[in-house]
Amino acid sequence: MTKGNINVSVENIFPLIKKFLYSDHEIFLRELISNATDATLKLKHLTSIGESKSEYGEPKIEVKIDKDGKKLHIIDQGIGMTAEEVEKYINQIAFSGAEEFLDKYKDAGKDAGIIGHFGLGFYSSFMVADKVEIITKSHTDAPAAHWTCDGSPEFTLEETDKKDRGTEIILHISEGEEAFLEESRIRELLVKYNKFMPIPIKFGTKTETLPKPEGAKEDDPAPTQEVDDIINNPNPAWTKQPTDLEEDDYKNFYRELYPMQFEEPLFNIHLNVDYPFHLTGILYFPKMTNDLNIQKDRIQLYQNQVFVTDNVEGIVPEFLTMLRGVIDSPDIPLNVSRSYLQADSNVKKISSYITRKVADKLKSIFNNNREDFEKKWDDIKIVIEYGMLSEEKFFEKADAFALYPTVDGKFYTFEELTNAIKAKQTDKDDKMVILYASNKDEQHAYIQAAKDKDYEVLLLDSPIVSHLMQKLETSKENISFARVDADHIDNLIKKDDTTISKLSEDEKTKLDELLKEVVPSEKFMVQLEAMDSNASPFIITQPEFMRRMKE
Ligand code: ADP
Ligand code: MG
Repeated sequence: MTKGNINVSVENIFPLIKKFLYSDHEIFLRELISNATDATLKLKHLTSIGESKSEYGEPKIEVKIDKDGKKLHIIDQGIGMTAEEVEKYINQIAFSGAEEFLDKYKDAGKDAGIIGHFGLGFYSSFMVADKVEIITKSHTDAPAAHWTCDGSPEFTLEETDKKDRGTEIILHISEGEEAFLEESRIRELLVKYNKFMPIPIKFGTKTETLPKPEGAKEDDPAPTQEVDDIINNPNPAWTKQPTDLEEDDYKNFYRELYPMQFEEPLFNIHLNVDYPFHLTGILYFPKMTNDLNIQKDRIQLYQNQVFVTDNVEGIVPEFLTMLRGVIDSPDIPLNVSRSYLQADSNVKKISSYITRKVADKLKSIFNNNREDFEKKWDDIKIVIEYGMLSEEKFFEKADAFALYPTVDGKFYTFEELTNAIKAKQTDKDDKMVILYASNKDEQHAYIQAAKDKDYEVLLLDSPIVSHLMQKLETSKENISFARVDADHIDNLIKKDDTTISKLSEDEKTKLDELLKEVVPSEKFMVQLEAMDSNASPFIITQPEFMRRMKE
């Protein structure tokens, strides 16, 4: 048996680890299962290139609770370690890593954001355990090793008689951390962090109902059997090739990601890039509710199928945080603050790649199935309009598919719109005037009047559209927007002198007087029977600039 001192200059590192990571104790399980997964994948690689005599088989990872013994076991059938490897990888490397961490982040305790997702690897187990054992058998012929450490820099390492290849980590859960001995808590963590990890993870067993044997009677109970309860899906849709997936596969995966979402997603976007960074993922356009604050189910960030966070702020452009789905990239640095993240060149590239993919996908849906795209416009316009306002690149791309609906339910692209109105809606300054209504009912009379003139009237009623109009006015040449009840429209509408008056002169005078009393003339203009439509005896207009000043 070897006794020794772990090579570490900071006496007793564990109180520090515990203190630093206090808010995120639960990540220990993610770290240990990541290690078990790595060990299994390493073995897979070695066996596939003939560098291990071991049989790969169908390895799994098992998590077991021993409530009476106050222990948690994480068992894998991976590559294992020899005693020398334990010395090297556990005693030296990990501790030097921890030391480096402490050096680098001595002051980091203040900025909890940095620590949140800093994986301390194997040693994070000491956040919840006061003693940790490793029992491990290498895939080589070397004897098995048993390492024990009670949280001080001292450890013991001795030979043991484990027969099966792989590693078992035993955590002696410390006082105050007993929650990690509860089945429900561990299951919750496994589902949160490991739901899509690539090696099957067993947590207990479950009863499966089998089909009744032939000739069974009606009320014979169906036979059952106990099977491993595998908590993860090792092959989630985003790891597959888009060509291998059907529309239904995407929908099913959405359901898997968000079991509580009953609405179907509108579109999905499969992300898949190898260069200059690695990124895979699937994004979904959900059906938007009016309340943008309600957004529990967010995009989840993974690294090699390990859940990292569902806060992707700084990684995807803000307007896309309204989407749902998964992005998986090992090239996003995690041990840094958000502001550093935004300055990282990979992250910048990733962000613009995602923006471009989303725009390309929208464009192809628009081109391939315009009818469907129009139907969904109301549900997706918030994202698109917001994107056009906030990301110049997206604005340029969206020009091809952003839609401008008319009050009659027709949809124009910007180009189609200007083609349609060019000939008939140009003012004296030779500017095309795009007429719009913001409320079909309130502005009904004005809409009717414009339609009688054969003008197109858009229905622009989304909360950000007024900002978008300003953006369009400054970035497109020779156009301006005017609300259908603005006086601007008179520059286009030539009054039709042949309209026969239905009001007598006396009625007109009375009406005029009455209107002068109720309508402040410094703000509005009143015209009696100014419109072609027979519906209105008078109209009230307001200069466009005045209306905008109010907003
Ligand atoms: P990292 O995973 O970032 O390398 P860790 O502290 O998590 O750092 O682990 C340190 C090393 O210990 C690993 O790189 C690996 O060599 C070894 N190790 C940890 N857990 C296992 C395991 N279950 N099976 C085999 N080797 C392991
Ligand atoms: Mg690790």
